[in-house]
Amino acid sequence: DDFDKAGLAEAVLRSVVRCGYEKPTPVQRYALPIAKAGRDLMACAQTGSGKTAAFCLPVVSGLVEAGGGGRRDRGSFERRAHPRALILAPTRELAAQIYEEAKKFSSQTGLRVAVAYGGTPIGDQLRDLERGADILVATPGRLVDMVERSRVSLETIKYLVMDEADRMLDMGFEPQIRKIVDRMGMPKRTRQTLLFSATFPPEIQRLASDFMSNYIFITV
Ligand code: AMP
Repeated sequence: DDFDKAGLAEAVLRSVVRCGYEKPTPVQRYALPIAKAGRDLMACAQTGSGKTAAFCLPVVSGLVEAGGGGRRDRGSFERRAHPRALILAPTRELAAQIYEEAKKFSSQTGLRVAVAYGGTPIGDQLRDLERGADILVATPGRLVDMVERSRVSLETIKYLVMDEADRMLDMGFEPQIRKIVDRMGMPKRTRQTLLFSATFPPEIQRLASDFMSNYIFITV
C-alpha cells in the first residue's frame, strides 16, 4: 500500500515524495506493479483518479533504468527528435497537464520532456524538440504533422501511452492514431503500451487488441 513497493527507480520515488503524494490512489496501486513488470495494460479510469501518475511513474522509471537522460547527440546535424516514450492525449489542455506532471516526475532524472499540441504556432515546439526529448507528450494531429515534416522519429518508441483513448476516438483521431502507431519502429511485442480510457466500448477493445499484446485489464 505504498509507493516504495511498486519497484520504482530511486530518483522517481524522490519526486513522488516532493509532490507530497503519500499513498497511491487505487488506479496507481493496481497499475504500477503491472506496468513496472513490463506488461501491456488497459485501464478504465476517470479523470481525478490519479491516472496521470499511474502511467508517468512506470514510464519515467523504465527510462531511468534503461540509461536515463543525457544521451542526446548535441553535436549532430540530426534535427529529428527520437523520443523513447510517447504519451498521446486528446486535447492541448490535457497534453499540457500531462507535460507538467511528466516534468515533475523526471526532475531528478536528467530525462527531457517535450510537448506538442495544435492550436498554437509550431515553431517554438519544433525548437524545443531539437534540443532532444526522451518523453514526448502530444496530441495526435500535431504529432502527425511533425512526423511528416521529419522532425520526430517514432523508430525508438519503447513506451506508448494513450490517455483518454475514448475521447480521442470521439474527436475523430483514429486515423491519426493508427498512422502514428504504424510509424513505430518497435512492434507491439517489444514496446510497452498503456491504454487509459473512461469507457471500454467495442472501438476501444479493437484498439487494445490491435496495439497491445497479451494485455491486462483493470477497472477502478
Ligand atoms: P489525475 O487523475 O491524474 O488528473 O490526478 C488528479 C489529481 O490528484 C492531480 O491533482 C494529482 O496531482 C493528484 N494526485 C495523483 N496521485 C496522487 C496521490 N497518490 N496522492 C495525492 N494526490 C495525488
